Amino acid sequence: MTYIANPDRYKTMEYRRCGNSGLKLPALSLGLWHNFGHIDSFENARTILQTAFDNGITHFDLANNYGPPAGSAEENFGKIFKQDFIPYRDELIISTKAGWGMWEGPYGDWGSKKYLVASLDQSLKRMGLEYVDIFYHHRPDPETPLEETMGTLDLMVRQGKALYVGISSYEAEDAKKAFEILKELGTPCLIHQPRYSMLDRWIENDLLNVLEESQVGCIPFSPLAQGLLTNKYLKGIPSGSRASSNRGNGAIDEDQISEEKLKKVLQLNELAQERGQNLAQMALAWILKDQRISSVLVGVSKAEQLLDSIACLKNYSFTNDELERIENILRN
Ligand code: NDP
Repeated sequence: MTYIANPDRYKTMEYRRCGNSGLKLPALSLGLWHNFGHIDSFENARTILQTAFDNGITHFDLANNYGPPAGSAEENFGKIFKQDFIPYRDELIISTKAGWGMWEGPYGDWGSKKYLVASLDQSLKRMGLEYVDIFYHHRPDPETPLEETMGTLDLMVRQGKALYVGISSYEAEDAKKAFEILKELGTPCLIHQPRYSMLDRWIENDLLNVLEESQVGCIPFSPLAQGLLTNKYLKGIPSGSRASSNRGNGAIDEDQISEEKLKKVLQLNELAQERGQNLAQMALAWILKDQRISSVLVGVSKAEQLLDSIACLKNYSFTNDELERIENILRN
């Protein structure tokens, strides 16, 4: 059936300026790390993407290695894009990345110019796109000179294959160096993509300050700690959940759902209920309360989860008392 986007799609979503750029991102963006590979249901993936766009989520985040198998999320996205989204290309921000192992040999991993150029060409082919809106270096490479990696990002923009560039999972000091190099080259870094949630707060030490000083946007990934910060695991590990699926490739597994974490989750869940939200909504709201956050990057296995999560926008302010209670729960 021909997809026609919801005419009211821009009525409720909030859009935030990304750093010092001209670009605005939706407060929630959709990631395709899991649930969009060849092992997943194509029709479900299509429904999720349509639901996202129908609700004002204009940003879809991919990477060369998403699947499984690696590359298949981009392939499926390409098929869905061709079926449904070609008329809406100029309303979409599509990102991809390279930096993790993608193919055999010395040129299929890390941060060399050789790898990154080839990988973006492959991604564009898989997705059937002429350009991506954002291209990221996916993780820092301790061996390749930063000048080479950042120089390649600059090249991609000059070649018209990417409009903006970003980095992911760089710590504060390296991020700062990368921003300086990019600025000098004339391609300022748009955005940083770090892991951040109530259960993983490393970016609060230095990175968030560096991003603010450098006027670079921030789009946290795994804001629900891959599902742990929802009410899903409170009574065991339900079948069909990510932790039950043995997906590998960094996906949460049973061992990561410890008693200690569940104790905190249970208390957070109670507080969320007092606020009139569920835990997923409170965990997203807690991130969005900080205006330095440009967008929060969620994953979903069903369209209903996305609709549920979007409702976090109804209340992302916290009283001092609530914030203190959250600190106490997370500390103990
Ligand atoms: P989340 O922390 O949002 O976890 C997503 C999972 O949480 C879903 O698959 C679902 O679990 C569960 N969930 C989501 N919403 C709800 C809800 N409302 N109620 C109940 N359960 C819910 O994010 P991800 O770990 O998926 O990461 C998001 C995106 O971030 C990725 O798709 C990717 O684009 C990016 N990313 C980037 C990385 C990087 O290195 N730059 C690394 C990892 C991710 P279930 O499947 O069990 O139903």
